[in-house]
Amino acid sequence: MTLLKTQVLIIGGGATGAGLARDLSLRGVPCLLVERGDIAAGASGANHGLLHSGARYVAKDPQAAMECAVEGAILKKVAAGCIEDTGGLFAAVAGDDERYVADFPSHCHTCGVACEPLALGEAREMEPVLSEKLIAAFKVPDAAIDPFKLVFENIDEALSLGADVRPHTRLTGFRRCRRGLEAALLRDMQSGAALTVEAAQFVNAAGAWAAEVAALAGLEIPMLYSKGSLLVTERRLARRVINRLRSSADADILVPGGTVSLLGTTSVRLDRLEDCRPTIPEIDRIIDAASKMVPVLAATRFIRAYAGVRPLVGAKTPHDDRAVSRGFALVDHAAEGCDNLVTITGGKLTTYRKMAEKTADLVCAKLGVAAACRTAVQPLASGGASRWAAPGLAPRLWLKAQDPDDLLLCECEMVPQSAVDEIVDAIRRQKAVVDIRAIGLRSRIGKGTCQGAFCAVRLAAYLCDRGLLGAGDGPADIRAFLASRWKGLRPVLWGRSLVQEELQEALHCGLFGLEL
Ligand SMILES: Cc1cc2nc3c(=O)[nH]c(=O)nc-3n(C[C@H](O)[C@H](O)[C@H](O)COP(=O)(O)OP(=O)(O)OC[C@H]3O[C@@H](n4cnc5c(N)ncnc54)[C@H](O)[C@@H]3O)c2cc1C
Repeated sequence: MTLLKTQVLIIGGGATGAGLARDLSLRGVPCLLVERGDIAAGASGANHGLLHSGARYVAKDPQAAMECAVEGAILKKVAAGCIEDTGGLFAAVAGDDERYVADFPSHCHTCGVACEPLALGEAREMEPVLSEKLIAAFKVPDAAIDPFKLVFENIDEALSLGADVRPHTRLTGFRRCRRGLEAALLRDMQSGAALTVEAAQFVNAAGAWAAEVAALAGLEIPMLYSKGSLLVTERRLARRVINRLRSSADADILVPGGTVSLLGTTSVRLDRLEDCRPTIPEIDRIIDAASKMVPVLAATRFIRAYAGVRPLVGAKTPHDDRAVSRGFALVDHAAEGCDNLVTITGGKLTTYRKMAEKTADLVCAKLGVAAACRTAVQPLASGGASRWAAPGLAPRLWLKAQDPDDLLLCECEMVPQSAVDEIVDAIRRQKAVVDIRAIGLRSRIGKGTCQGAFCAVRLAAYLCDRGLLGAGDGPADIRAFLASRWKGLRPVLWGRSLVQEELQEALHCGLFGLEL
């Protein structure tokens, strides 16, 4: 049994946990972050990538709208390398609620969200994919944010400042003392080894799993789970974020994700977190609804679907999950007799920095640390291996370098060997497992139109050549990678995606003898 000691143990390696590790490290507070899977394994790796201006929430959730407006502006300054400042449009089409449209500008004004009316012709000139049945359009400061790059940059900076990070390490219990927690009990998910961590303060940043983590300490958090499913288009359809101008419903948002567009989302109540996957009826619903605003979506090729779970805290309305606040919950469990455990959950990717700041303020107050938060002014250290998560970067750098020895391992997204080498070094620094899934998470490998058909094999061969995969481990690694892609491919199998998948099946089952 390994015993580790730290000042603050952070449970959960999503945006919130990663942001907190960076914030505490900038204040000089030693911390250890544990994550049961790889970094960004939860909602932080499965969201829409919209840096909210707040406009989406102005009518029903003004508090969340105001938080987003303030945080969006801060992140555009301090995390500019993770953001494409596309701007956004809100568009209503014939049949949409005209009362909602009429009230929108004044709601935006009240919440401090900049909002400018557009002539219909001007809006369609700005975004030609918009429907001819447009009845109103407004410009807002929405933007696109790369969640993977954001989380990895927070982790990398925390590591460089002395924080410790342990992915593939699951919290399994706590050892309690009279007024709090003495230690956390963990398991290394690779070796199965037990690990005990003694800390002065414990932070539950486990997102949708926060209630499960709290339960391990004998505490209760009222939460419900709202699944959202999203689709990825083959190419980018619009320059800006496009939002449907109506009370939140399915398929209202089209977000540019570099070279593709992300369309969603649904809101489906889940009882079990394990049931998080996009379903065929949801996908049909998304395309039907979104085509009213962007008609070309009815005939677009979608290369995959994915789903994530929103943790909604303090549910008051049992039927409509969209009515539950998107604000965050910071819970000091001292009130329930556990002095050194804090939970931070709910909120948005857009507000992750604020969530980390508030949590670090509370933890520092408990530790007697006076250092102030610096994350609102200090730019996030950019670059390094996390840059390979950005769409379109690998081809640009590869073409510029013109190195004939630097072979491409992924042709769709043009990821060369040199990028993989850098990513492998980063994975090792982050103490994660080097395999195809980990490299895919930190790059564009597997994200292009072939969805892993060719690059998975090339990457496995390259990792074997470098001695990073054992000779017999390649096929198992390819199978695990393709299986992880399959749940997102299954709901979009028609037209050219079906043809692509049949080719993949023929290659992997027929040629390589891999039964998937
Ligand atoms: C479909 C969807 C679309 C969204 N779109 C947007 C958007 O466009 N813009 C926006 O601002 N926000 C969006 N959000 C919200 C945003 O994704 C989340 O608010 C944010 O990612 C939450 O980050 P987190 O770190 O709190 O949680 P998570 O990212 O879920 O991280 C929690 C981590 O804890 C880990 N964990 C759980 N249990 C344990 C354990 N026992 N031991 C160790 N680790 C554990 C999990 O594996 C997980 O990685 C969306 C959410 C969803 C679901």
